[in-house]
Amino acid sequence: MAKCEVCGKDCGEKCIEKSGKSFCTPKHLSQYKAEHEHEEDENVCEFC
Ligand SMILES: [Zn+2]
Repeated sequence: MAKCEVCGKDCGEKCIEKSGKSFCTPKHLSQYKAEHEHEEDENVCEFC
């Protein structure tokens, strides 16, 4: 059974799958996305 990447909760058929990750709610998908994008911002400089 798939588990939410953010809270670790089993989400089963209601899972939202994105890029091989699973999320129990769209809210947790956005939350993960925001955190992930933030990490990428630290590694990739758009202005160099
Ligand atoms: Zn969740």
